[in-house]
Amino acid sequence: MTNERVTIMDIPFLNISKLDLFNQVIYPNLHKNEKKYMVTANPEIVMLAKENADFKNIVKQADYIVPDGTGIVIASKIIGEPIVERLPGFDIMTQLIGYAEENELSCYFLGASQSINQKFITRIKELHPHLLIAGNYHGFFDLDDEKVVQAVRKANPDLVFVALGSPRQETWITKHYHKFNKGFFMGVGGSFDVIAGEVKRAPELWIKLNLEWLYRLVKQPFRWRRILKVFEFMLRVITRRF
Ligand code: UDP
Repeated sequence: MTNERVTIMDIPFLNISKLDLFNQVIYPNLHKNEKKYMVTANPEIVMLAKENADFKNIVKQADYIVPDGTGIVIASKIIGEPIVERLPGFDIMTQLIGYAEENELSCYFLGASQSINQKFITRIKELHPHLLIAGNYHGFFDLDDEKVVQAVRKANPDLVFVALGSPRQETWITKHYHKFNKGFFMGVGGSFDVIAGEVKRAPELWIKLNLEWLYRLVKQPFRWRRILKVFEFMLRVITRRF
């Protein structure tokens, strides 16, 4: 296992293979009941952190920041400190759910609209009939709402997947983290929508060609502003204007 971190625009990324991330980091954390907070950061998140000091602080509080997004891996090569592997949040979440099912660890699913959250839970129960679901709640609430925090706390989950989009999900986690005794917390963006069947992930070939971002743009053109941020990120890396 490498302990190395690669810092891109002041965000320290874990430089680790997927295998080591699970076997040497996350699984041992889960079995020791260690409370952890993970951010899967893509170029949009790095840019958001650059533009917003409060958000940067929220991201940097994470125990692990892993490189989600091809842009981060390309950037690491450009600065001469290549990151070994891209670690997409979606893949981490699905693998952890499978692991939780096999190891009798419970999961809480917080986020997405009420109907998508329900559809997501139905689908997860089909895919993982033995999974211990500690609880679930939709994602449209005030970030200070104590009822939501207490509901999650009472459920006492081993893993907490927070699908509120960035920066809401990271803000919620860091705001309330100190109220929990245990739990592996991670923000998972639009992942519930994908599993619920509301948003399709790019076909395998597009993913292989590192063109998932283009597929998303074609399918959800309202995201063009986000894509511009990815270009700005790449341009800054290439010209070293961090
Ligand atoms: N969302 C939510 N509460 C909010 C805003 C968004 O639960 O106040 C959900 C939204 O329904 C979606 C997810 O957060 O399920 C964010 O998805 P998006 O694709 O924007 O996130 P990304 O994957 O791009 O971070």
